Amino acid sequence: MTILRVDGAQNIAGIDLEEAAACQMTLADTVMLSGKGLHSGRETVVEMQPAPENTGIVFRHGQNTVSGLAHNVVDTSRGTTIGFNGFRVLTVEHLMAALRGLGVDNAYVEVKGGETPALDGSAAPYVAAIEAVGLVQQSAPRRLITISEPICVRRDDSFILAVPSSELSITYVMDYDHPMIGSQSSAYVLREGGFAKEFAPARTFVLYEEVAGLLDRELAKGGSLDNVIVIWPDRMSSALRFSDELVRHKVVDMIGDLALIGGLLSAEVLAVRTGHALNVEFAREVLRRIETPARSRRRKAAVVRA
Ligand SMILES: [Zn+2]
Repeated sequence: MTILRVDGAQNIAGIDLEEAAACQMTLADTVMLSGKGLHSGRETVVEMQPAPENTGIVFRHGQNTVSGLAHNVVDTSRGTTIGFNGFRVLTVEHLMAALRGLGVDNAYVEVKGGETPALDGSAAPYVAAIEAVGLVQQSAPRRLITISEPICVRRDDSFILAVPSSELSITYVMDYDHPMIGSQSSAYVLREGGFAKEFAPARTFVLYEEVAGLLDRELAKGGSLDNVIVIWPDRMSSALRFSDELVRHKVVDMIGDLALIGGLLSAEVLAVRTGHALNVEFAREVLRRIETPARSRRRKAAVVRA
């Protein structure tokens, strides 16, 4: 096996890019991060460890395990929570985005404390930790997920439309009736790389008027001005890292949620005003279509019409 240093999703030094894109990858060594969970407020520790080919991303603690797949999502209130048999891991999206964004297909993620650490509210600390150990190329081919027809999920005025494409691209449109936000869009194209530098540093945010409601719902208990951008009608709690940092963060969340499909999606995706709930619904729909090929779905539809 070859140990690779990575610098962005498609910028892997010293090896054949096509070969790397074709093969599964895992971590070269264990990576540990700790800090407060954004929602639980608990001190948490995650240890990302190398895993064999075709493992995918598997969260575990003691005897408990749960795969990072959309059908294991149990909650999407202001974050993506996965769970199985009572074992829950809150706020997996930034960690999942870092793994997917750097091209890690297989990893065990030991979680102590039931939530990933919020760190600075972005995926950048996860990216830095993974880049510090590098990746190992495995011999099994990477699992590419292509779609053969458009897929659209929608809820009220939010929707995700994906159309067949030979590569992954995501265009995200956010549209807030808020003087500090308004309408913004951002595009991520996997081929162009740049996840580590252009998207991972974008931090999560919250509107000031939402804070009290979140705390009432036992959410954001670990939130602070160090790990979330608070937005008032006339100002923000810190200088932005990018002028469009908020929408870039939405792209990061989407990359993390789409990683719950369990492979590298190859599609052109347009997401308008979506959050974790619709992102996960889309990921589930893709998984459902993988499990039920188009021909048999059409047969079932025909029976229904009859
Ligand atoms: Zn986020």
